[in-house]
Amino acid sequence: MGELDSLYMEVILDHYKFPRNRADLSHIADEYLHENPSCGDSFKLELVMGEDGKIERLCFDGHGCAISTASASLMSERLIGKTPEQARRLIEVFLRVLRGEESPESLEEWGDLKVLGGVTQFPLRVKCATLAWHAARKSLKSRAGDMPDYGTAKSMG
Ligand code: ZN
Repeated sequence: MGELDSLYMEVILDHYKFPRNRADLSHIADEYLHENPSCGDSFKLELVMGEDGKIERLCFDGHGCAISTASASLMSERLIGKTPEQARRLIEVFLRVLRGEESPESLEEWGDLKVLGGVTQFPLRVKCATLAWHAARKSLKSRAGDMPDYGTAKSMG
């Protein structure tokens, strides 16, 4: 994995070994899988809005490398309880940072999430880190009403 600092490793491995908000999503059809073929990461995502208009439930299921799993786990922690507007803002900032268009310092206010900014040093792993985020963005975009939404299939274009 190269020269990753210890904080980075600690956070990533903790979320990889003990993913937050991982749940059995076998009720979701395989056509809603979000995949990163270059690494083999494959996730389903479920996003449920609460009556208060905030994200009440955001969970994922599937398998992936340490970075994709940790990123999905960290994302779920940050997005639950947020309004769709707040969630979209964070998703856009995160994707801009991972594309190298914005400084990783932009993630400072989001706590542990900032460690994922370090992935920009490893271009091949950026797709791993952004997989769940693209899925969540599509889910928020396609949302109409309060039905559960799993995002559209094949999110990596
Ligand atoms: Zn991966």
